[in-house]
Amino acid sequence: MIKRIAILGSTGSIGTQTLDVVREHPDRYEVYAISANRSVDLLIRQAREFKPEVVCIADERCYETLREALSDLPIKVWCGAESIDQMVTFPSVDIVVAAMVGYAGLQPTIEAIKAGKTIALANKETLVVAGELIGELAAQYHAAILPVDSEHSAIFQSLVGEDPNTVEKLLLTASGGPFLHHSLEQLRSVTAAEALRHPNWEMGAKITIDSASMMNKGFEVIEAKWLFGVPVDKIQVVVHPQSIVHSAVQYIDGSVKAQLGMPDMRLPIQYALAYPERLQSTFPRLDLFTYNTLTFLAPDQERFPCLSLAYEAVARGGNIPCILNAANEVANLAFREGRCGFMDMPDIIADTMAKASFIPKPDYDAYVASDKEARQIAEEMVNGK
Ligand code: MG
Repeated sequence: MIKRIAILGSTGSIGTQTLDVVREHPDRYEVYAISANRSVDLLIRQAREFKPEVVCIADERCYETLREALSDLPIKVWCGAESIDQMVTFPSVDIVVAAMVGYAGLQPTIEAIKAGKTIALANKETLVVAGELIGELAAQYHAAILPVDSEHSAIFQSLVGEDPNTVEKLLLTASGGPFLHHSLEQLRSVTAAEALRHPNWEMGAKITIDSASMMNKGFEVIEAKWLFGVPVDKIQVVVHPQSIVHSAVQYIDGSVKAQLGMPDMRLPIQYALAYPERLQSTFPRLDLFTYNTLTFLAPDQERFPCLSLAYEAVARGGNIPCILNAANEVANLAFREGRCGFMDMPDIIADTMAKASFIPKPDYDAYVASDKEARQIAEEMVNGK
């Protein structure tokens, strides 16, 4: 049985690696639809190679270029955010790979869930912003959500065959990023270029900055809470600079099951696409004699306050994680553009969390309004820096 895939964000890091997995298994997967924000040239190359039914570009200014470049092929060419929502609901689509960056991934993921699709979820912001709503919808529409994030894939793989009631805690590993051993003083003057040099993982710019500030790990704590139904006080972040142990689960008898492997996103992507099967791959193998020293340390929340902000957001609940995410998207971009410093990011986020309106039980529209308000507040803070 060939599975048909729709990839949201096919030109990003996860999107291109998903296509690598499809190239490895042409007998199993077919690319039915792909979308990108504005990387039109790469999207054209992907469309010509994989010949999907539909290609969609979010940025309408790129539409003509895309349409013209594919005019000799029988491919539907669409544009705009609404087309992306439509693309995930095709009856022929089996799996939706949600790999868009940030808050923009929320709406199409909701549409895919409502259409009962299996979701291979790489967009963690979706669960950070609206984890409770997503969980309720997934149950209501019988849509499976399979993690693509390497840590969550590791936890997922460690949970296979186990009774969820026997889980004592989750051990969520973190590389610590490029500034693991920087002093607070040094952190104040790091540049975006330095932050973009991640020691272990090749990722998109936004997540690489989140990784350097450890907001990425804070988001992953929230993501794990919603994916696995484990309260955050039972999710322990463990800094593990080699990124070989991708995460672990501790059980009530004291056993710890972990998943190890090379830091290669194609592995968790392939696991999500093939679940519950495990497929052959040609990806590099882990040689434990090469990685003969694996180290583990506690995270420093003073130098990396974003991690505490994420725990605080989830403890306060309601729309606070949505505010956390919106403020972080604004601060992250401002840092990349040199409009604020590295240690300004947590300040901007904390101030936005304090100032934005609290909504204890948000519905979808409340999330949209809250996201907008938080972005405005955070922008004002950036301008004041
Ligand atoms: Mg991760």
